[in-house]
Amino acid sequence: MSTSDPYIFATSHAESIVKGLKISALPVNPRRVAEELDFVVQAKPVEDRGCSGMLVRYGNNFAIAYATHLQNEGFENFSIAHELGHYYIPGHPEALIPGEQGTHVSRAGFNSGDRYEAEADRFAAGFLMPRHLFFPELEKAGKGLEAIEVLSFLCKTSLHATAIRFAQCTRDHMAIVISEGGTVDHCFMSEALKQVRGIDWLRKGQGLPACSSTLAFNRDPDRIAHAERVQDFSNLQDWFGGRRTIEIREDVVGLGSYGKTLTVLYDIDVPEEEDEDDESRLIDSWTPSFRS
Ligand SMILES: [Zn+2]
Repeated sequence: MSTSDPYIFATSHAESIVKGLKISALPVNPRRVAEELDFVVQAKPVEDRGCSGMLVRYGNNFAIAYATHLQNEGFENFSIAHELGHYYIPGHPEALIPGEQGTHVSRAGFNSGDRYEAEADRFAAGFLMPRHLFFPELEKAGKGLEAIEVLSFLCKTSLHATAIRFAQCTRDHMAIVISEGGTVDHCFMSEALKQVRGIDWLRKGQGLPACSSTLAFNRDPDRIAHAERVQDFSNLQDWFGGRRTIEIREDVVGLGSYGKTLTVLYDIDVPEEEDEDDESRLIDSWTPSFRS
């Protein structure tokens, strides 16, 4: 997310709490943190699909219940960290559980239009993948889907959440795209890619490029369900428009029971602006000026 993200403070708040807790290595274990706060932490039955988790308050006692239907340890950690967000972010406990007792039901996972849910999601990402611990590991992890898998394993986070955090923290030109069928569900571009002039930002609901491996992959739901993967080449222009036809890499993986597909676009070798300016000056200097 860009610095214009109105919820970015929740990520920074989580990072400062991790520092305050003197956690100095990954993974951050949200269950342990909750238990050290004397919270009861409980798994919900697998059949219970209605929400990602719940925060229950009874006076000064809290309990967290988290969903297990996706059978994904990363998602469970994210759900617990999301509930911790509702406890730690100033204003949340009072707004979500007014009075001395009650329950807040959560829908974690980056797609909520609700301000409190969005803030708790940003908190969870910053809590499980705080930049000061995550970035040094990112630099060692390599690139593409393989790097995201290394970090997902290290942080015990889902591929989806790790991919988004990777795009937020990397200095490279890259983007991650979550898609379903023929359309983009959401896309996170790295800051470096956002700075490239003359390209369009990929938007929710936009069609996938006709010739992309991602679109071909999405035609077969079994490949998504079985978390199959494809590595291919693609083109910057096909995804982001603009006038440059630059070959890029396209890694694709099915996200299993989540039912969506993760695409990682990377190895985007954008020419330096100065080189391009030199080129256009050269062209200008060779262009005769005609007078009528
Ligand atoms: Zn929530």
